[in-house]
Amino acid sequence: MFVGDIGARAGRDGRAREPQVTVVFARVAGFPRMDAMSAATVDLMDYTDVISRYAPVLGMEVHVELGTATKMFCGCPTEFGAEPNTQVCPVCLGLPGSLPVVNEKAVESAIRIGLALNCSITPWGRFARKNYFYPDQPKNYQISQYDEPIATEGYLDVVLDDGEIFRVAIERAHMEEDTGKSLHVGGATGRILGASHSLLDYNRAGVPLIEIVTKPIEGAGERAPEVARAYVTALREVLKSLNVSDVKMEQGSLRCDANVSLMAKDAKEFGTRTETKNVNSLKSVEVAVRYEMRRQAAVLSAGGTIIQETRHFHEGDGSTSSGRVKETAEDYRYFPEPDLEPIAPDAAWVEELRGTIPEYPWLRRGRIQADWGLSDEVFRDLVNAGALDVIIATVDAGASVDAARSWWVAYLTEKAKEREVALEDLPITPKQVAEVAGLVEAKTINNKVAKQVVDFVLAGEGEPAAIVEAKGLGMVSDDSALQTEVDKALEANPAIAEKIRSGKIQAAGKVVGDVMKATRGQADAARVRELVLAACGVSE
Ligand code: ADP
Ligand code: MG
Ligand code: ZN
Repeated sequence: MFVGDIGARAGRDGRAREPQVTVVFARVAGFPRMDAMSAATVDLMDYTDVISRYAPVLGMEVHVELGTATKMFCGCPTEFGAEPNTQVCPVCLGLPGSLPVVNEKAVESAIRIGLALNCSITPWGRFARKNYFYPDQPKNYQISQYDEPIATEGYLDVVLDDGEIFRVAIERAHMEEDTGKSLHVGGATGRILGASHSLLDYNRAGVPLIEIVTKPIEGAGERAPEVARAYVTALREVLKSLNVSDVKMEQGSLRCDANVSLMAKDAKEFGTRTETKNVNSLKSVEVAVRYEMRRQAAVLSAGGTIIQETRHFHEGDGSTSSGRVKETAEDYRYFPEPDLEPIAPDAAWVEELRGTIPEYPWLRRGRIQADWGLSDEVFRDLVNAGALDVIIATVDAGASVDAARSWWVAYLTEKAKEREVALEDLPITPKQVAEVAGLVEAKTINNKVAKQVVDFVLAGEGEPAAIVEAKGLGMVSDDSALQTEVDKALEANPAIAEKIRSGKIQAAGKVVGDVMKATRGQADAARVRELVLAACGVSE
């Protein structure tokens, strides 16, 4: 076909069509416009006024990068942080003649995510080509799913801050591949505007992604920003518990786009939505939704209209600014991917995967808290310390809840902070902590020596019991050895000894302290105290 023929080209229905160049214009419009720069002067309506006049509607799109070892359609590694363009091959670079092959593990993860979100899993569905040009996408199309997604029609019950449950309906979860990364160089902001050139890294191109899309979320009212945050929080926890992704928002393995629109109280139809892209922390989700509600309300109440567009979120002041005018699905010219077979998961496989879906993390927490009989506050502290899983593992290895909790929440949290690592990355295992707790319990060592033992384990000196043995750290519990030290200490402090004999048993502390010093802290202090009092002929 000649280029000059486009304008007169007839559609399949025989009618002449408008030239199909909207994608090109949308892309040009996609560069940040000047109004993006004046975010600070935007009018915002007072939040209580927004709520009294409008009902917000939300739509959450979450992209999660799967933690598979290799990419969606080739064998390239997916590890984060490698040298640019070292994890690429003809398939993920889109070289002519290369052919994609589906990563089974990614399909398995997609199905498990669908099941965890109470979705139906499609018995048969194809991938689709989503056609658009962008430099970070070497094929000029993205392999995605369109009208035949792997999972549809689910829901997630989200627990709000006050314990109330809000059901978020899930429209679909579909598989696709990630794009590469562009780095815009030479400008002040790292954005394309003002940059002198751009660098491209295709390591991320082809990494498996699952996009999870909600149905429009209505009825949240004033709690809409909280619902948005609580939903992403819950979804993130579920994904983490499935062990399908590291869900690190700051590294981009979980990315969230927040769609927001407002309806006047008497309106029958949804308003026009904006889509704030890549909101990269849980707090930011809440801030961005609230900002959009206030901004849109101000525009609408002044007689303006909201245009359907993407918006950028600015971490600094929590504002959003205009991005690009939104393409419609037609612009992408979706069609079934001809290079891949349809996905047709066997019903038995799906059932087998259903058996691997863990209890929701918040339900599990509630059950464990009740089991352990801990107060909300104590339990919240250990959860916030990131210690729940290691404490569970330590209890499973034989320690008491109290001992496991106090080791991880106090001493080891301190050590983790010093080393700037997460608790589970400390070079001590829950099993070793349980072993130390066991030695204390058996009175082989006291608490003070136990800390030294833990320090030795952290320093890589081996297993706790072996360390106690090798370094002679066992408690001096041999009464005759202790008795000698007690007698010496009493002789050295005649005045105090006299006080104790006359019944002032508080004075015994000094003598006990001296004995502890003499035994390098390895004596059982309670036993020493008993021996001191006995030697002076008094009792508690
Ligand atoms: P797009 O391709 O534009 O990203 P998607 O269907 O992937 O569209 O996602 C749109 C999201 O916005 C969905 O979560 C959908 O439920 C939600 N949504 C649709 N209409 C509205 C609206 N008027 N206001 C708010 N959210 C909406
Ligand atoms: Mg989308
Ligand atoms: Zn590759």
